[in-house]
Amino acid sequence: MFKNISALMPSKKKVLSFYGLLSLLLILTLFTLGLYLSLLNDLENKTTAAKRALSERMDGIFTELKQVTDDADLSCDRDNIKLLRRATFYSPTFKEIGLFNSNFKVYCSNLGPINIKIYDSIISRIKGSADRKTVSLMRSNTLSESTFFAFYQRSDGLGANGLAPPDRIAISVDIILLPDYFYELTLGKQILSSNREGIDSSVMAEQEASLADWSMSLVVLLPSSLYWRHFWSLLPVMLICWALLLAAFFIGHFVLVYYRRSLRHCIKRAIKSETMEVHFQPIVSLNAGCFHEMEALIRWRSFRHGQVSPLVIVDMADRLGLIDDLTWMVIRKVGDFYREYPEQLRNIKTAVNVDRHSLLKEGFADTLATILEEYPELKGRLGLEVTETSALNAVELPLMVSRFEHIKALGVGLSVDDFGTGYAGLDFLRRFPYDTLKLDQVFIASLKDDQFTRQVLTSVTKLAKELNMELVAEGVEREDQLNAVRELGVDRVQGYYFCRPLPKEQVIAWFEENTIK
Ligand code: C2E
Ligand code: MG
Ligand code: MG
Repeated sequence: MFKNISALMPSKKKVLSFYGLLSLLLILTLFTLGLYLSLLNDLENKTTAAKRALSERMDGIFTELKQVTDDADLSCDRDNIKLLRRATFYSPTFKEIGLFNSNFKVYCSNLGPINIKIYDSIISRIKGSADRKTVSLMRSNTLSESTFFAFYQRSDGLGANGLAPPDRIAISVDIILLPDYFYELTLGKQILSSNREGIDSSVMAEQEASLADWSMSLVVLLPSSLYWRHFWSLLPVMLICWALLLAAFFIGHFVLVYYRRSLRHCIKRAIKSETMEVHFQPIVSLNAGCFHEMEALIRWRSFRHGQVSPLVIVDMADRLGLIDDLTWMVIRKVGDFYREYPEQLRNIKTAVNVDRHSLLKEGFADTLATILEEYPELKGRLGLEVTETSALNAVELPLMVSRFEHIKALGVGLSVDDFGTGYAGLDFLRRFPYDTLKLDQVFIASLKDDQFTRQVLTSVTKLAKELNMELVAEGVEREDQLNAVRELGVDRVQGYYFCRPLPKEQVIAWFEENTIK
């Protein structure tokens, strides 16, 4: 493992620079885009807030004018002048307030009696407005400067007008937008207030809001200088995030490398890509002195992990939920073997090991039937070996019987594997229509010396014969074991004594060497 990781060392620099660049790119994209979007959002929020503030200011203006008209009359006496002076003094907006009559003549202001005719264009706007209010931007007679005018007329014709420097109107907008944003506030086509000339950089975005009631429109501008100011202030945060992301990438990379090299992942890949091999071990018939059966056994040499035991493969495949894929892979490889050597394998059956839980699954027999269609050469030649590793519960028991019948109907033989080590008892054998019973190698090893084992196997042999089952002795390694098996009356033998599991070409050669008499 460490050797493997150290083999990675020379590329560490490359990995680091790759992830360094990738994380930098990601952080830059994230921050530049994030900042841009957040400023856009801020621009929108500020514009909405500025519009609301402006609207409230306009409402305030007309509340002031309405209050004046509430207390005023058509004369310009001391009381009215005093009223206008008071209103002007306390007004946050107006510098001058006047009164006009139903002929739209301004007859009184806070400075005293006057006589000014309101412009016709304004008169028609007052008349045209539902609540008799209007605003305008024009040169004032008294100040001779661009001045903001507001007009309000009571229903009986008496009205009040106020004059204010345009800045006073814009002040509510200034509070919200300055100093970050630039803006232009227009009334009709005229500029009421603007600081856009002061923009020292390009404009990144702009947002518009309008107060339709007053023909006012507000354009707020996002200068790129604001963006860059924020960008530089975020630089330390960006560097920290970059370092963290780089570390995460680096750790993630090595976890992935470790995982990809892990046995689990290698097994998964080998099953998925069907790169495992199948070896075959012949089963010899003692009476006939020939062989017409073999067992298919999975074999896999991993590039990283070396030769992996079939038990480990099966256990891992089970945990990965790939046990069925493993079974189908083995059966297909067996089918390919028959296809490759049709003559040599004409009279030979092959047993494939199957997990007991797979048999219980609903689609198992159907998939098996599909594979048999795909490989007609397997018909009547395929057998399944099942190890009873756990007791069947009340639900599984009848289900298993029906599954067995389904499988047998396909012409597939069934064997109890490793009999004597699992849960398959004598009673169990009576219930299930197994064709073959394979005595576990543990029994065979102790058969010669252990009286008790001999007795047990004698009764098992008897029962098997009664039930018309074939018997196979597994794991026969020596001649004395072979003799003990023969004495017991077991006909079929599988073990190293005759042949180890071999790759397909070698097993064919073995068959040819040990030709059937
Ligand atoms: P098994 O089905 O009982 O297979 C017989 C095992 O005994 C094989 O081990 C075989 O190599 C070994 N064997 C045969 N003759 C002798 C002998 O004379 N002496 C000794 N000591 N051993 C002998 P293998 O190939 O290591 O397989 C072990 C187990 O892994 C199998 O036991 C079977 O349960 C499982 N297995 C193997 N291939 C598959 C497969 O494709 N699918 C499933 N589900 N299980 C499999
Ligand atoms: Mg087996
Ligand atoms: Mg076995």
